[in-house]
Amino acid sequence: MKIVSPPRKLLTEFCALSMKILRLANRGVSRIEFLREVSKMLIHFSGCDALVIRKKDRDYNYYWEAKIQPQEVFHFKKHEDTPLSSTCESDMERFYRELSQGHFDPRLPFFTKHGSFWTGNADQPVTFTSKKDEKKRSYRLKAGEYKSLLLIPLVVDGKNQGLLEYKSKKPHFFHEQEIEFYEGVAQTFEAAVSDRRAQAALRERVKELACLYEISRITQHPSTSLEEIFQHIAELLPRAFQYPEIAAASILLDGHTYLSPGFRKGNYNLKAEIFANGKSRGFVEVLYQAGNFGLEEEPFLKEEQSLLDGVAKQVSLIIEGKKAEEDKQKLQNQLRHADRLATIGELAAGVAHELNEPLGNILGFAQLAKKSPDLPKQTEKDLDKIVGASLHAREVVKKLLIFARQMPAQKTRANLNQIVNDGLYFLESRCSKEGIELRRHLSTDLPDIIADPAQINQVLINLVVNSIQAMPEGGILTVRTRAYSNHVSLIVEDTGVGMSEEVKKQIFIPFFTTKEIGRGTGLGLPVVHGIVTSHGGSIQVDSEKGRGTRFEIELPLTEVQDVVENH
Ligand code: ADP
Ligand code: MG
Repeated sequence: MKIVSPPRKLLTEFCALSMKILRLANRGVSRIEFLREVSKMLIHFSGCDALVIRKKDRDYNYYWEAKIQPQEVFHFKKHEDTPLSSTCESDMERFYRELSQGHFDPRLPFFTKHGSFWTGNADQPVTFTSKKDEKKRSYRLKAGEYKSLLLIPLVVDGKNQGLLEYKSKKPHFFHEQEIEFYEGVAQTFEAAVSDRRAQAALRERVKELACLYEISRITQHPSTSLEEIFQHIAELLPRAFQYPEIAAASILLDGHTYLSPGFRKGNYNLKAEIFANGKSRGFVEVLYQAGNFGLEEEPFLKEEQSLLDGVAKQVSLIIEGKKAEEDKQKLQNQLRHADRLATIGELAAGVAHELNEPLGNILGFAQLAKKSPDLPKQTEKDLDKIVGASLHAREVVKKLLIFARQMPAQKTRANLNQIVNDGLYFLESRCSKEGIELRRHLSTDLPDIIADPAQINQVLINLVVNSIQAMPEGGILTVRTRAYSNHVSLIVEDTGVGMSEEVKKQIFIPFFTTKEIGRGTGLGLPVVHGIVTSHGGSIQVDSEKGRGTRFEIELPLTEVQDVVENH
């Protein structure tokens, strides 16, 4: 028997509740927070004891249960498959499913014309015919301590999307006249959820764009270093995520880590790999700590994975762009260096020519003077010194001329191994005298090159002499030759004093020397540079202070081809 009493709530109160729900949806809180607030409102408003929402959502289905007395208890559960069509379902579940799918005839008792079901005595089985198969069924609702139930299907675009369930421990709690209003509230709830979703999507998109825009803005500053850029991105990333206050971000790149402020490791993470120049270089990661949820909602949105992928891509582009920029800078530096050497070379050549004649006179007249009879011993000694000094000066002039490439190269077909063997022949005894072990590792199948053997010999001697001078206490000197597909290499390696970065930067500058006057002219390596460049080759230097030095001279093979073709 139904007890009919006048509705306790007025239409205006239902309207006010609807407005509150819509306003909440507009605040842009998380789904869990939204469900929590809505449940509280609905329970307070209806005065019932519990509220259950079963809902099919965009990403998954969920089950939500809320109680606020004696204390607030909320329960959220995600369903992988449809929660409303399980195979081993109880009567109750089957009833919910059929109800949520609109399978009951609303003309039957306990149903409203919108398909909601309500009862004030849940212990009593409900019997009716299912619309689906016309079979009469009896359902035991097993509502436990709850005596009154009100189940309202959530309908969107004519499709059932879930069920809103009010439960009360009091029998006959719901009033027939109020149910239509509750159905109205359910509709508002559904509208609010869709609205929230649309708004959330928009908000996420805005955050995402703001984040990408900010990244491109910081990379525009030419003075910003890569480290600063990556640090900035790590700080920026949490803001683009759903829960910025508790999100942490890190970028791991080539072994360096960049962390957002107050970074903490988390249990939930989203990652995107950074690929640059075809190699994996690290990853971008955003993390949450589980403790911050307490509810098992999916912490990341699908869009957030795309955002992170986008950021990883940006990072890759930044690295690749910076590398290209650096390569360009390096090339420009090399050009500038070559330019400077050429200018100095021209100058040096001019000076050398000017000096050649007076030097020849000094030497000649000193030698002539020595032939005078009855010279005092001291004068004879002094003349010897003049001869020695002018010979040294002539040597400097000769090197200057080679450096300035004023002595034309006489290129022929030549074998590097041959040049090395001939050259080392004169240096072997000097090495053993200075306690230096000379090792040779000559490639057995070294192709010929087109080169000036005298000049390549000069290169070898300049390098070997430097190495010998770098090992005053003895050591090991290794000379190698190697064949490659398009060049041959001459490698001179020592276990000597090595060079500081500061020295290494200046070794090709003419007259740069760290040796005392008389021992070093500072022209050995500039000459090497001039010869190698005129042969179309290149020089690599590796050196470590206290450990030793390694010079590798690469001479191209292509010229052999050219010469052969031209003849
Ligand atoms: P010089 O030998 O007359 O000083 P170079 O042009 O041959 O002039 O070399 C310039 C400088 O480079 C040297 O003074 C020395 O400081 C450094 N250097 C060259 N080769 C070596 C080496 N094998 N080990 C250490 N330092 C070297
Ligand atoms: Mg030298």
